[in-house]
Amino acid sequence: MKSALTPVADALARILAAAQPITATEQRPIAECLGCALAEDLHAPINVPFEDNCAMDGYAVCTGDLLAAPLAISQRIAAGQAAEPLALGSCARIFTGAPIPPGADAVVMQEQCERQDDHVQFPYGVTPGNNIRRAGSDLKKGERVLACGHLLQPQDLGLLASLGLGRATVVRPLRVAIISTGDELTAPGTPLSSGKIYNSNGPMLCALLTKLGITARHSQLPDNPQALRKGLQEAAATADLVITSGGVSVGEEDHVKQCVADLGELMVWKLALKPGKPLAFGRIAHTPFFGLPGNPVAVFVTFMLFVRPFIKRLQGLREVQPLSLKARANFARPQSNIREEYLRVRLQNDNSITAYPDQNSGVLSSTSWANALARIPPHTQVNKGDTLDTFLFSELLT
Ligand code: AMP
Ligand code: MG
Repeated sequence: MKSALTPVADALARILAAAQPITATEQRPIAECLGCALAEDLHAPINVPFEDNCAMDGYAVCTGDLLAAPLAISQRIAAGQAAEPLALGSCARIFTGAPIPPGADAVVMQEQCERQDDHVQFPYGVTPGNNIRRAGSDLKKGERVLACGHLLQPQDLGLLASLGLGRATVVRPLRVAIISTGDELTAPGTPLSSGKIYNSNGPMLCALLTKLGITARHSQLPDNPQALRKGLQEAAATADLVITSGGVSVGEEDHVKQCVADLGELMVWKLALKPGKPLAFGRIAHTPFFGLPGNPVAVFVTFMLFVRPFIKRLQGLREVQPLSLKARANFARPQSNIREEYLRVRLQNDNSITAYPDQNSGVLSSTSWANALARIPPHTQVNKGDTLDTFLFSELLT
């Protein structure tokens, strides 16, 4: 039976509609929160800075006292020390990050001071507030700092730490099972015999998930319906998402689709997409399932286009589409057919893109050479100088 190819946008809409966000939450140390989704709005428990502090090495003064300069140095305040109130008619030697002594209203940078023994002269004008970082000028106590659902990035963990927060309440990290299928697969690091190939999809998929802050469980299954059924069922029983590679095409040894149809439901199969036509999506019992193609480049592309946004939906995010930019093709391509195409390209600083010479879906080196995917819509000819929607790996891998 020849079934019609589903357009990419339709398939994505159907797949995203099936995503049920994870509702379970847990408290984790911030060192274990990278890539996790915040499960509640986060409010500042303190002001940042906590108190007025000094932005320059110099002298803290009360500007009202400057007419009486030179002023005697009455105390020395380094970062980490507490300050005494500023003695009337004096100044304080002060360093970046130190608290401003009560009574001072400006810091004069040392390059604008003339020091004579234990007195200081201020030959330039000084404005109240100069070189003082005000308490709460970055974040005010009680203010909302990050919204529920925000995916925690390294800078956010820094922000949490700056608020004194050692733990955060996040959406429970996803449990993802990756299954490489194929009788030909051999684990890297062991000798290869005739007929076999190394399993590149397994390690690549695990690493793609690591990039999204998810530790996946990986296993391998043969092209055998009984073993596949048992393995898929076991994986689905404990995972939030099952991802396979291989065995979803139209060959006699491609059993994965039938197993999923037997154990649950096949909802999407065969896309108008190149590479990635055999992509399958469905569920095993109640667990969502992606059957990615076997060809490694098709795995890479379909992961970016479908698995990544689906995972973000499971994590509770609304906005799941990657940012793209318009780049100028340095190449020409004859008119494409009904299949939307994703080329492995390298984006240069002049906003031009060059395509890897071999766009075959088995050529994984194209993905290491490239730094972006460029989309060619269906039935479109590309002339040199045309602009194409381009998706940077740096965006797709976060
Ligand atoms: P399939 O869809 O199972 O027929 O696989 C399509 C192509 O991808 C075949 O050449 C397979 O050998 C290859 N392939 C399948 N799984 C993997 C894998 N895990 N790593 C590398 N290549 C694979
Ligand atoms: Mg196979």
